[in-house]
Amino acid sequence: MKSKKRSKRNTSKRKASNFSFKKILLFVIIIACLAGGVKIGLAYKEEQQALQNQKAQKEELAKEVEEKEKNQPIVGQMPKYKAIYGVDSQKVWNALNTYDYDNGGKKEIFLTFDDGPSLTNTPNVIKILNENNVKGTFFVIGKSLKIDGAPAILKELYNNGMAIANHSYSHDYAYLYPGRVVNMDNFISDFNKNDELIKKSLGVKNFSTRVIRCPGGQISWKKTEPINDYLIKHNMTSMDWNALNGDAEGPKKNAEQLYQEAVKSGHGKNLIVLLMHDTYGKEETVKALDRIIKHYKKLGYEFKTLV
Ligand SMILES: [Zn+2]
Repeated sequence: MKSKKRSKRNTSKRKASNFSFKKILLFVIIIACLAGGVKIGLAYKEEQQALQNQKAQKEELAKEVEEKEKNQPIVGQMPKYKAIYGVDSQKVWNALNTYDYDNGGKKEIFLTFDDGPSLTNTPNVIKILNENNVKGTFFVIGKSLKIDGAPAILKELYNNGMAIANHSYSHDYAYLYPGRVVNMDNFISDFNKNDELIKKSLGVKNFSTRVIRCPGGQISWKKTEPINDYLIKHNMTSMDWNALNGDAEGPKKNAEQLYQEAVKSGHGKNLIVLLMHDTYGKEETVKALDRIIKHYKKLGYEFKTLV
């Protein structure tokens, strides 16, 4: 009886110790799990923090690059197009001044459009250039840019990869060349005024152009050496032309006549700077443009921009 009781007590003791052992084990497991959980949680948090830091660093770097690019001067044309189409205007200026159009045997044509942008013709010119996958250089004037809606067309030119050049603010012969002789004070202030307007109209504050075209052409005026001195000093260039479609000369021509003139005046030249106009009233130029481009394409010319 006694032994039976003892054995019963022993069993309950064992049970009790077994129970507390299980309890401890469970407790240990819970603690371990909690510790592990906390550890995993901490590690996860650290990882997330590291990822976040990395992302912030990357964003900061991208911002820095963007800021740097924003402040870098953009000269003449959007950089990605300039890299493909842009030709150093200094080289072309020299060629025109020396009447040397051989261009090392390389056929290159520069389509140039003066006196715009216009609300009527410039959008159509852009369309035709785009359809033919070529670019042009636009010598804009302040008088045209002042017209409501013109800045948007200038932006369109820029965004479509065209080169933008300065053709003076006033385009006023009497003011720029009184007595047919250049007045440098008027000349410089007039071109600077247009430069500011181009910048403002584009909304690209770091844009500038180094290419100008004298209204009427530099060759038409007397004693223009000071223009050259000024431009050379400022790393700029003056761009006349060696071919034209004749849309501003003599009696008004139709598209066929303009096409013929553009073909004839470029004949035999490897380097062609072709003068045309995209201002008001030049609808016939727009009509002739596609044929002119296709003619020179067929002859193997590359279409470039002046920058
Ligand atoms: Zn002009």
